[in-house]
Amino acid sequence: MKKWFSSVNRIQVILFLALFGVSLFLTSLVDSTYQFNANQLFTAYQQDLLNVNAYKLIDDMRAQNILQGPLTDKQAQWLTRRARLYGVQMRYEDVNRTTVWIDTNVASEPAPLKQFSTEVIANGKTYGYLTVMYLANFSELDNQGAQYQNELLLRTRIAYIAVLCLSVISSYLLAKLLSKHTAKLTEVAMAIRMGNWSSRAPVRGPLELKQLSVTLNELAQELQTQEEWRHQLMADLAHEIRTPLTTLLSEMEAIMDGIYEANEERLGGIYEEMERLSRLVDDMEQLTEAEGARFSLRIKSRNIGHLVRNVYQNFLQMAREKDIKLIFIPALVPCFAEVDQDKMIQVISNLLSNAIKYTPFFGTVTIGIQWHAHETTIYCEDTGIGITADDLPFVFNRLYRVDKSRSRASGGLGLGLSIAKVLVEAHGGSIHVQSTPGQGSRFWFTIPNSYKKVEQLP
Ligand code: ADP
Repeated sequence: MKKWFSSVNRIQVILFLALFGVSLFLTSLVDSTYQFNANQLFTAYQQDLLNVNAYKLIDDMRAQNILQGPLTDKQAQWLTRRARLYGVQMRYEDVNRTTVWIDTNVASEPAPLKQFSTEVIANGKTYGYLTVMYLANFSELDNQGAQYQNELLLRTRIAYIAVLCLSVISSYLLAKLLSKHTAKLTEVAMAIRMGNWSSRAPVRGPLELKQLSVTLNELAQELQTQEEWRHQLMADLAHEIRTPLTTLLSEMEAIMDGIYEANEERLGGIYEEMERLSRLVDDMEQLTEAEGARFSLRIKSRNIGHLVRNVYQNFLQMAREKDIKLIFIPALVPCFAEVDQDKMIQVISNLLSNAIKYTPFFGTVTIGIQWHAHETTIYCEDTGIGITADDLPFVFNRLYRVDKSRSRASGGLGLGLSIAKVLVEAHGGSIHVQSTPGQGSRFWFTIPNSYKKVEQLP
């Protein structure tokens, strides 16, 4: 039973049954309306014909002077023949309708379907009552009429069957066409599930299916990106961890073998490497959190001026240590935007700490806001070492460092900007950089003032 149901409970079968059911219903409706109309018209036509035949018979009776009963056999035979010629049954009675002079339908079986009675009058005198009738079985009487009716019935039936066949075929084809797209979508979804990330659904068919295909393709794209990212990350991480680990291992081995002395300086070096490892883990944690932030932003309308000022104040001490002039340029108007406060603080902090980190003593770092009706731009400028044009396109990549040794010395792991980028994009914004080596860099990001979910369909 369950198996049967699941084989019937398929979109193609359901669509077919629905389409066929509707066309069957409509055809039957048209057919019965037609039959009803045809029957009514035919009945009216029969009644008219009956009346006309009755008067024709009376004319014949007058012409033959067969008016006064009782009728002779010859007269009765003649009248019967005449009635048969007109395709009707007849009864002729006296004026009081007590004596029947002739009745061609004596048995009255079957009962007459239609009848028409009228007085037979000639020269102002009423001679009797004539009743003409059709029997229930019409075909016995009026061959032509019956043939016509039968022909009509046959043709209607043929047309009905033809329409039914057509609706079966069209319902089947339509159901197949519509379910073909869903079948294709299922196939692609299965392929994606099996790890074939490059599978894409064709964007065809009705609007809803097209939207479904687009969503599925975006999902596959997202999965593919995630998968590639995971691969890349694993490789990068392995590489990142291997270097300090190898150093640590060889240092420890040398100490254990007695080659090096376990003095403060050596242990300090080992401690630094371990610290680096621990920082890497922290940053990785932050990046994972940032990646997840796309789906869990706590958006609220915030005063961006206050927010940036707070971060600026937090960095004053760090700048002072390097004698760097840290300047904050607020917007001229109070500026509000819908953001996740913590994430925004993180982005600005990453930019500011980089600017201070990569700016030599006595330099200048400026953080400022430009507010527009629909978006807000926050920029961070420094008079630091700058970035070469070759490196610029990659600075937002994960674990990318312009100068590995330099960054190692200054503690950077190449994750700060990628975290900033992920967070800005999660807010529906974009982040940019301009730099002249030796003169300084300008990082800026723009976010819309009212938040829209990024993964909304177009
Ligand atoms: P890191 O943790 O190494 O600073 P980031 O992702 O924050 O990683 O930065 C990536 C690279 O971009 C850095 O290694 C550095 O070389 C370069 N960079 C970032 N900000 C600046 C800046 N303000 N001036 C010069 N170079 C910068």
